[in-house]
Amino acid sequence: MDTKLIQILVCPVCKGPLVYKKMERELLCKPCRLAYPIKDDIPVMLEDEARRLPDTEEV
Ligand SMILES: [Zn+2]
Repeated sequence: MDTKLIQILVCPVCKGPLVYKKMERELLCKPCRLAYPIKDDIPVMLEDEARRLPDTEEV
């Protein structure tokens, strides 16, 4: 996964910066509590495809 690409990606919901979670292969938006999946090294920047983090999960 290209880290330069991650730097230009923003959350489609709040337009905020994302955190790359290497282990989970997800891009995390902390304010929205949404984790966008990375499929075949391509980030899926769709709210419908994102995983909604449970309140118990640390972000
Ligand atoms: Zn967001």
